[in-house]
Amino acid sequence: SAMREARVKKTKTVCTYCGVGCSFDVWTKGRKILKVEPQVEAPANGISTCVKGKFGWDFVNSKERLTKPLIREGDTFREADWEEALNLIKKKFTEAKETYGPDSLAFITSSKCTNEESYLMQKLGRGVIGTNNIDNCSRYCQTPATMGLFRTVGYGGDSGSIKDIERAGLVLIVGSNTSESHPVLATRVKRSHKLKGQKLIVADLREHEMAERSDLFIQPKAGTDLVWLSAVTKYIIDKGWADKEFIRKRVNGFKEYVESLKPYTMEYAEKITGVPKRQIIEIAKAVHEASSTCILWAMGVTQHLGGSDTSTAISNLLLVTGNYGKPGAGSYPLRGHNNVQGASDFGSMPDRFPGYEKVEDDDVRAKYEKGWGVKLSAKPGLNNHEMVEGIHNGNVKVMYIKGEEMAMVDSNINHVHEAFEKLDFFVVQDIFLSKTAQFADVVLPAAPSFEKEGTFTNTERRIQRLYQIFEPLGESKPDWQIIMEIANHLGAGWEYEHPSEIMAEAASLMPLYAGVTYERLEGYNTLQWPVAPDGTDTPLLFEEEFPFPDGKARLFPVQWTKPMEYEEEYDIQVNNGRLLEHFHEGNLTYKSKGITSKTPSVFLEVSPELAKERGLEDGTVVRLTSPYGSVKVPCHITDRVKGKEVYLPMNDSGEGAINYLTSSRADKDTDTPAYKEVKAKMEIIQQT
Ligand code: SF4
Repeated sequence: SAMREARVKKTKTVCTYCGVGCSFDVWTKGRKILKVEPQVEAPANGISTCVKGKFGWDFVNSKERLTKPLIREGDTFREADWEEALNLIKKKFTEAKETYGPDSLAFITSSKCTNEESYLMQKLGRGVIGTNNIDNCSRYCQTPATMGLFRTVGYGGDSGSIKDIERAGLVLIVGSNTSESHPVLATRVKRSHKLKGQKLIVADLREHEMAERSDLFIQPKAGTDLVWLSAVTKYIIDKGWADKEFIRKRVNGFKEYVESLKPYTMEYAEKITGVPKRQIIEIAKAVHEASSTCILWAMGVTQHLGGSDTSTAISNLLLVTGNYGKPGAGSYPLRGHNNVQGASDFGSMPDRFPGYEKVEDDDVRAKYEKGWGVKLSAKPGLNNHEMVEGIHNGNVKVMYIKGEEMAMVDSNINHVHEAFEKLDFFVVQDIFLSKTAQFADVVLPAAPSFEKEGTFTNTERRIQRLYQIFEPLGESKPDWQIIMEIANHLGAGWEYEHPSEIMAEAASLMPLYAGVTYERLEGYNTLQWPVAPDGTDTPLLFEEEFPFPDGKARLFPVQWTKPMEYEEEYDIQVNNGRLLEHFHEGNLTYKSKGITSKTPSVFLEVSPELAKERGLEDGTVVRLTSPYGSVKVPCHITDRVKGKEVYLPMNDSGEGAINYLTSSRADKDTDTPAYKEVKAKMEIIQQT
């Protein structure tokens, strides 16, 4: 009947499960999700989605959703109304600010939330409290990639569009399990490899699906990618294969850079990486012979002591071979969360305002002081990692975390849990009572993407709108409203009625987004930054120039940092990463029945050699112990891994959580945890 049809509606949204940024229509009836329907006009995915985008949404109606604010009482929580929770926050924030100063408060925003929400979170920290202690979880994954690109080409984002990857002659994937972590993007690579004769080279510890498909697969020792990448670049230069014209016209620092490559001979690279010389030469030849090269990389590169330097080495290789500024070439750091790019774009970084302008720059501060009508601090704040240390040494007293499962996803989590227990006051805002929320004094119920409006920016710098599908459940609210209410309880007087007004304000202050308006993003319309005031966007970066004063890129010399050393008894190398079906710590996907029935639990991948040596079978339960903690997991024997390298998916939030094993050591340039540098000893707990 007509009445029945009237209740069925379709709404466009953007997936929140990875940085590819698939968009699609969601058909609903009441609060029931009928189907997810991708549309041809969706720029990142067209008619495709992966299993998470298609089926991963029933958590929205989970009975476990938070629907009221909670206030701690002893070891438990009691429900409270919003006014009581907000007044308590006002009292505690004000007390800490007056007693210990604004830098005793710290703020962490989520790279799953919208751009507008990240903008407001940093505006709250900077403009209302007066501290730059603001960060987001790209600190855990992609900040080193951003650093490597800032150093060399000036913008920290994918240099082209996802669809341009199809035009590359060669795709080189380093430390990225693309088919499981960025499924729809991987499909494009698989297609052009199969149908268009595109060459595919993969470097990884683990022989995952892309590795199996590749024309050449190398397995360098953990943490040695910079060495073979530099050897490839040196070989290309020595052979006279560098793009001399491109370097002469568009690149600075060639001479010093060539000097810095001296140690990276083929002999040295073979010795350090364990990759045969002939394979490293084969890669150099492939780059030389290809019409153009795209390099895709992810956490296998970034989560190391030298993560920024390896990202820099990748960009250096692209510069030397003229692989920037044309379609089918360039750098593709693959962003993990849906809005890793946007969270950083919108200034949730301790040293940068929105659009990456520096907090130390007097002119930039003056612009924001005028725009916001406040006085701002010129002192860069603490990043996530430094916040944890700041709590331990008594400088940070109060913390406000929005949508971030820091108690599970930070490294060395025993150390993080001890820090949370030391806080004077802790506010956590989330859709579920996460592990992090269990440490909080006040828990605020937030609304997920289906229940709010806003924009996300995907891995290819593409800004896309999401539309509200459902009303917020119970008394939960969109994050932007909650932040505004906290700010207003502290006297800020903000009056945003819709996220479009937040974007308008942000765009008026940040040149990178100058021409972004909600009208220009209507429906499936999108923009890729930088966006000029007239709305002209930039699908392909660096066509004419690089964003430095002289318009030229910079080759940036880097040297290899040895991975962390462990005592001899820690003899097992523990690699870790995602599973296709689950998302991170599993807070969303584990509540989705459609998904848990397909991939029930976590397991440890063990090589046949190691299984034989230690007497392990499929299902044997082992304990892995590092100097920082231990995990208990069943084994799965597979030749995807080799020797004493094991693989632990990072999607467990119980006894198998990888971050009980990881250390507090981090990338030396960005403090991104060295998650991938884990060694442990293994003991059998239970045979099958
Ligand atoms: Fe969502 Fe990423 Fe899957 Fe696309 S590829 S549907 S963005 S998880």
